[in-house]
Amino acid sequence: MPAPVRPSACPGLLRIVPALDGGICRIKLPGGVLRSVQARAIAEAARHCANGVLELTNRSNLQIRGVLPGQEGTLIDALLGAGLGPRVAAADDVRNLLLSPAAGLDPQARMDLRPLAGQLLDLLQDSPALQTLSAKFALQLDGGEALAMREHPHDLWLAAEDERHLLLGLAGCPNDAPLARIEAPQALELVRQLLLLFLELATPEQSRMRQLLGHISPDELLRRLQARLNFPLQPPPANWQPAATVERTPAGIYPQAQNGLCMVAAGARLGRLHAEQLLALAELSERHGDGELRLTPWQGLLLGNVPEASAGELLSALGDLGLLVRADEPLLGLVACTGSAACARGLSDSKRHALHLAELLRASHARPQVHLSACPRSCASARVQPYTLLASTPEHYQLYQRTPETPGFGRLLAPAMTIDQVGAWFARQHPAGTPDA
Ligand code: SF4
Repeated sequence: MPAPVRPSACPGLLRIVPALDGGICRIKLPGGVLRSVQARAIAEAARHCANGVLELTNRSNLQIRGVLPGQEGTLIDALLGAGLGPRVAAADDVRNLLLSPAAGLDPQARMDLRPLAGQLLDLLQDSPALQTLSAKFALQLDGGEALAMREHPHDLWLAAEDERHLLLGLAGCPNDAPLARIEAPQALELVRQLLLLFLELATPEQSRMRQLLGHISPDELLRRLQARLNFPLQPPPANWQPAATVERTPAGIYPQAQNGLCMVAAGARLGRLHAEQLLALAELSERHGDGELRLTPWQGLLLGNVPEASAGELLSALGDLGLLVRADEPLLGLVACTGSAACARGLSDSKRHALHLAELLRASHARPQVHLSACPRSCASARVQPYTLLASTPEHYQLYQRTPETPGFGRLLAPAMTIDQVGAWFARQHPAGTPDA
């Protein structure tokens, strides 16, 4: 690997950054897919070189926490040996592409975008010019699947309009409306030229598309992009709406496009797994599925190509492993950052508080979607959740509700609530028989 690792505060596979509970190593998974043999390699490495705690991220990647001092090199070698690294060191940070975990399987999908995802990841890895993109610059491909997260503020997105056309959208455009329409085979060249144009136009302070579009209009950007392309950018359809998606974190059995097969989804408790669970998941994916674990942006897992006859057995095995498989499980609606237990910036122990809130909710009928954040950086959720709890003291939170007219976390409902008060508040909002949407 001749190119050096880029300096950054963000963890990477080759750049293990310290936290209060040890080092963090982030593994970027192409399309969120982890093969069983790779899952075993990660689990073994986490057991021997770290404390065994694994974290599923909201971009369908995976982190090893608690890396032990002096074990960094051994861990990195083990992960590279399992084929989990970038082709060149400088490309690790830019492998940011979100795909539906149900790509190629979802019966609602208009297009299977896995081949394009592979081409785009190759482009990002093989183009030295593109390796200067910010480590946060991210692409999203939307094939129209029902099991998809469409609220992420991705810098650049492509969505299937039908079986032949893709729509281009950029973060920072009004109403998240698409800007142009292309034929699907033109997508690779479109993205190549758009990324190069972005890097040409952006100043060092403008590392994200939204920032550039604060200084140049989308129309002007499109005009310059068109000048670099040998195919026309077509106008997008008026009033286009993205495909419908699930409203809550998926858990359970879902139909698949292929006859006789289905998908099984489960959540991880606050996005965390232990190495022993990952070893067991690898085994289950081989016994019941296709030997692949698909990580979801809801910090959970999906196993595809499961024969319908064995889906119930698999779901029950996932539940026995400690995964969340019931749609009414309150923890499925909760997201919590690392918090003060392992992050120096954390004001509160947000993960412990989330577990407590889940217990309170379990005793009621409220099933709200809530993000607990121990500081304003809001690492745990790339989108604004319907409710946000932002720590104001080690034992109190500000409660916000998302509203279209209020930026940031939304409308402040209460300036300082304990978790007991929050649980009681939700129970009052959602009495028996009216679960939260
Ligand atoms: S949101 Fe703040 S406290 Fe929580 S993990 Fe991120 S930096 Fe740490």
